[in-house]
Formats: sequence, structure tokens, C-alpha cells
Amino acid sequence: MTDVIVVGAGVAGLVAARDLVARGREVVVLEARDRVGGRTLNADLPGSDGQIVEAGGQWVGPTQDRVAKLITELGLEIFSTYDIGDKIGHLAGRFTRYGGRIPRLNPLALVDLDRTMKRVDRAARRVPLEEPWLAPNAHALDNQTFDEWLRHQAPTSVSRTFMRLLTESVWCAGPEEMSALWAQFYIHSGGGLESLINVTGGAQQDRIVGGSQRIAIQMAAELGDRIRLRSPVREIVQDGAAVRVRTTAGESRARRVIVALPPPLTARISFDPALPADRDQLTQRMPMGWTIKVNVVYDEPFWRAEGLSGQANSDSRPLGAVFDNSPPTSGAGVLVGFFEAKHAAAAAKLDPEARREVVLNELAFYFGPRARDAVTYLEQDWAAEEYSRGCYGAFATPAALTRFGCALRRPVGAIHWAGTETATRWAGYIDGAVESGERAAAEADALLGR
Ligand SMILES: Cc1cc2nc3c(=O)[nH]c(=O)nc-3n(C[C@H](O)[C@H](O)[C@H](O)COP(=O)(O)OP(=O)(O)OC[C@H]3O[C@@H](n4cnc5c(N)ncnc54)[C@H](O)[C@@H]3O)c2cc1C
Repeated sequence: MTDVIVVGAGVAGLVAARDLVARGREVVVLEARDRVGGRTLNADLPGSDGQIVEAGGQWVGPTQDRVAKLITELGLEIFSTYDIGDKIGHLAGRFTRYGGRIPRLNPLALVDLDRTMKRVDRAARRVPLEEPWLAPNAHALDNQTFDEWLRHQAPTSVSRTFMRLLTESVWCAGPEEMSALWAQFYIHSGGGLESLINVTGGAQQDRIVGGSQRIAIQMAAELGDRIRLRSPVREIVQDGAAVRVRTTAGESRARRVIVALPPPLTARISFDPALPADRDQLTQRMPMGWTIKVNVVYDEPFWRAEGLSGQANSDSRPLGAVFDNSPPTSGAGVLVGFFEAKHAAAAAKLDPEARREVVLNELAFYFGPRARDAVTYLEQDWAAEEYSRGCYGAFATPAALTRFGCALRRPVGAIHWAGTETATRWAGYIDGAVESGERAAAEADALLGR
């Protein structure tokens, strides 16, 4: 019997395992896929001499101190996201090229948008990160969608439109889908709206040399044969002193278990005895967002010569967000784009050839006809992935947090919960996954005793 079984070899599970090994514990990690990294995934850039782009989570930024420390410990390096030149905005039907952080708007709309963003940030700061359900007004906030709340806070249609664009980019879900309390918790957790949406100075500031999946790959190299791939966990049985964990490959026993999956996926494991009702009710109310992420490769980053940063965003077009994702040391240019929320659901219905055509049309709309001359097209639909079922993360629907939020991290017998959705800082991000792994490892270690 081992000390701890960790379910899931994403960043959260691997951090938990690594911490426990450092504390002298015996650990086994059971991972469903044939690879580590979960929602981080490197993709080779064909013909580029070993360069990669990321098909999953990729950026890190200021105040993400936990992942920054881990990157250093693992001997990895970061480089800056390309953020020089103008951006393309398509807001309320208007195409603009602009230099600042917000699309060019009439002065009244700008003042309104600035006020709305400040109002949202002020409200978010009042939500306690450990226990959002104790926020002043928590029930009133949680009983409405973010969209309903915004209708009262954002007086003009321009600021409401902008907040919709922002919501779809940050959560891959529409404001009408999530609780206003969850949205505010999340904004506070990531340090405010500017911190969430900015490139320089924000969550999209830096990339990892060799790709973000290297974080998981390096940890897995340290953990060696403690990791068992192709081992999807189907059942967790708690009886007496041991926990039995059944995969399609067999059964393992441990004194404690850390389940490091997004909440909706934990609900697909069978628990014996059944989980407490509040924990199950919570996972019934935390769906995943939906993104199809595309990387389009060109022989050079042609937009740079035209004074463009490669960034584009739109409140209505299918490919709502685009960034320059070129590798640091090759001549190739890469644009990364996201079909988000309802646009992802619509694009998923197309066959791959038609979807590629839509993407090239979108990029040509933003950056001109040269955008059609792609040399390679890569795409990843995260909702189609059996062991993710969406991204970037799970969100809470109305009334979930105030009724059942306290079950999010509370251990159930010998079972502990990790995964970015259980974090208090940078929930939904790689940094949050690190926090959650560290917390779950400390919890399990304390209860194992010496
Ligand atoms: C397209 C995309 C873009 C993103 N962009 C960013 C970004 O730029 N910056 C950022 O910080 N974050 C980003 N994110 C989010 C970030 O990737 C995640 O927050 C983080 O990787 C989550 O790590 P985790 O360990 O909590 O969960 P996961 O990575 O989901 O790990 C869970 C693991 O459990 C495994 N698993 C599932 N079910 C079972 C089972 N039954 N048995 C065994 N194993 C199982 C899965 O295969 C997976 O390996 C993005 C995510 C996506 C998909």
C-alpha cells in the first residue's frame, strides 16, 4: 500500500506528487491519457527544427508567483509574448486599428467603459477568495447571472458589449451562463480585469521556452515510474484504513487519495461510499467552458512589418481573439486564435476543412489577404477531449457557490481535492493548478502523520 495516490497528471496532480515525494511520502500518480500535462499540450511546428506551439494553456504573467517559482526550480525559461504595434478591434460592427489597450471608441463610451471596469473591479475585491459565499450580498449576487448583474452596472450597450467580449475571452463561456458571484470571485482571484486581459503587465505577458507542457514533462521526469499512464480511474472505494482506486488496468491501494481533476470530471468517477450530497450537487453545477484553439503557421510574421501586433478581438466574429504566437527563435510566424463559448459550439459542427476555411477567412478579415497563405494549420477542440471535456476551466452556475461552494475543497474521508478550480489565486490558470497541488499535498501529508 502506498501513502498517496494522485489521480490526474496535469500540473495540479504532478505538483502534489512532487511535494509529497519531497516530504518523504510514497506516491503513485494515475493518469488517464498516454501523456502528462492535461490542459497543457505542446504541438510540434512542422519543419521548424524542433520548435513548438501550445495547443492548450500557455501564458504566464505577473503575480503568478507560484508557477514562476516552479518554472525556475525546473530550470525552464520564459520569453515575452510579442506585444509591439497596433491591435485590430471589431466592436459593435466597427473595425478599428488602435494602439492602446482598449479599442477606439467615442469619448462618452470610453468614459462609460472605464467606469464599468472600475465598478466591476471594486465589486470583485469585496469577494473573499477563501470563502466567496461570505461576500457581502453573496446570495443576491449568486442568484443572478453575470449578464444580469452587468445590465445594471454597465449603462451603455458599448460597455455591455465589451464586457461580453471580455467574458467569452476569459472564461470561454457567455456572461449569461455563469453566476455573478463566481465571475467576481474569479476576477479578484486573478488580480482584476486589467490583470486578466492584458498582455504586457497581465496574464498573457510571457511564454515558456519549449512550451508550457514542459512544466509537466519536467516534473514527470523527476517522478519517474511513480506515474502510470493509460490508467483512467473509474472507481474509488474507501473502506477502513485503505482507499482502493480502480482503473481499467487494475487496482491500487493507498492511505490517502488526491483527486486532481476539473470538478465535472470528478463526477464521472464512481465513489463508494457515494460522495456527500453537497459535493455532488456542486459538481452538477460546474460545467466547463468551451474553446477550439487554432494555431496558423506562416513562413514569416508578416503582420509585424505592417506595424501590427498580431492581436485582434471581436464581440461578434467567430474567431473572437487572436494573438501572435510565433516561436522565439525561428523565422516562422504563428497566429493563435480562439473560437470561444457559443462560437466554439457552432464551429465544432463544421467538418475540419470548412473550419479551416472559416479560420483563414477570419484572419484575412483582421490582417488582410496574406493571412490566407498559411503553411500549416493546427487545431484542438478541448470539449471533444474525453479527459478534459472543455476549458479553460469549470465555472459555477447561479446559486451553486452559496449553496454548495463549501464542498469544493473540503476533504471527504481520505479523499482530497486539487485542480485549478479549487485555487484561491489565479483559479482557472496554471498558477492556480500549482496552488491547488501544494495545498492538497500539505493537507494529505498532515493527516498521514509520521
Ligand atoms: C486552450 C486552453 C488555453 C488555456 N490558456 C491558459 C493560459 O494561457 N494560461 C494559463 O495559466 N492557463 C491557461 N489554460 C488553463 C490551464 O491550462 C489549466 O488551468 C491547467 O492546466 C489545469 O491544470 P489541472 O492540473 O488543474 O487540470 P488538468 O490539466 O485538466 O489535469 C487533469 C488531469 O487528469 C486527467 N484525468 C481526467 N480524468 C481522469 C481519470 N478518470 N483518471 C485519471 N486521470 C484523469 C487528465 O487527463 C489530466 O491530465 C488554458 C487551457 C486551455 C485548454
